[in-house]
Amino acid sequence: MEKKSYVYGPVPSRRLGFSLGIDLIPYKLCPLDCIYCQLGRTTRLTTRRAPYVPVRDVLAELEATLRTVPPPDFITLSGSGEPTLHSGIGPLIDGIRKISRVPVAVLTNGVLLGEKDVQTGCLKADVVIPSLDAGDEEGYFRVNRPMAGLSFQSLVEGIRLFRGLFQGEIWLEVMILAGLTDSDVEVGKIASRAREIGPHKIHLNTAVRPPAEESARAVSFQELERIAAVFQPRAEVIFEPPVEKVSPGITMDKVLTALERRPCTIQDIALVSGISPVEVVKIVEGMMRENRIRRILKSGRPYYAAPPEGTL
Ligand code: SF4
Repeated sequence: MEKKSYVYGPVPSRRLGFSLGIDLIPYKLCPLDCIYCQLGRTTRLTTRRAPYVPVRDVLAELEATLRTVPPPDFITLSGSGEPTLHSGIGPLIDGIRKISRVPVAVLTNGVLLGEKDVQTGCLKADVVIPSLDAGDEEGYFRVNRPMAGLSFQSLVEGIRLFRGLFQGEIWLEVMILAGLTDSDVEVGKIASRAREIGPHKIHLNTAVRPPAEESARAVSFQELERIAAVFQPRAEVIFEPPVEKVSPGITMDKVLTALERRPCTIQDIALVSGISPVEVVKIVEGMMRENRIRRILKSGRPYYAAPPEGTL
């Protein structure tokens, strides 16, 4: 499958500072169809691992990009679906080590972490960030909508097994959704499963970006802070990217590539491009007039995204 680009960013990440993303999976292959997914609904539910994109091409593009951007804080395997579906994660991380000293993170839904081949590849990373958004089977089906044959118990068990093998850090990400997983009972169940896994850090997130389904509603920052205290270790609330760093020298083409992967605010774009927010507003308005990007309102807050495929 042909892709325009495998490397995007650096984009400001709420966990990883400035993160240079690698997109290993065609839109949108994933074993889950999370209601909060900022990429939209899953178009192909699958657990089939394959060399979806050529590792050699990804490494060549990464090497070229690293020469033109300020050093990122992380190189992150993520993108348009579940990155552990790529069967060449291990060789890819080996290749990254040869061309860069930047730490490597893997953002994953954790579904395949119990599989030996996936473990072998992910063990090479510095940080693995699996998701745990529910405390039982029912919640898992409501929030993550897994493909047939997957179970909540095997998800937890897979992450727990990997935790026992991994020399790097596990940062568990928990998405809290209003009316679904924010009650004391649901939070208690998630916290209990998280304790079984024993991650180094727990990050609480909420649906601040436009979700796949309107039913995925954000909780307030104050509510997340309250919920954070239920977890052991105490969870950290991740809400907004850090604002103190700018990343000069990024072209608007790179910004457009980032917008193809996820919607961003004016502030996000300003941070990525190093252009002042006032200038960004002017550029964004011009791009909207040309229909190169579109505006989405989420909780009354504007985000900007690439138009849906086929509308240009
Ligand atoms: S949020 Fe991640 S795991 Fe969930 S559907 Fe989207 S890509 Fe898949």
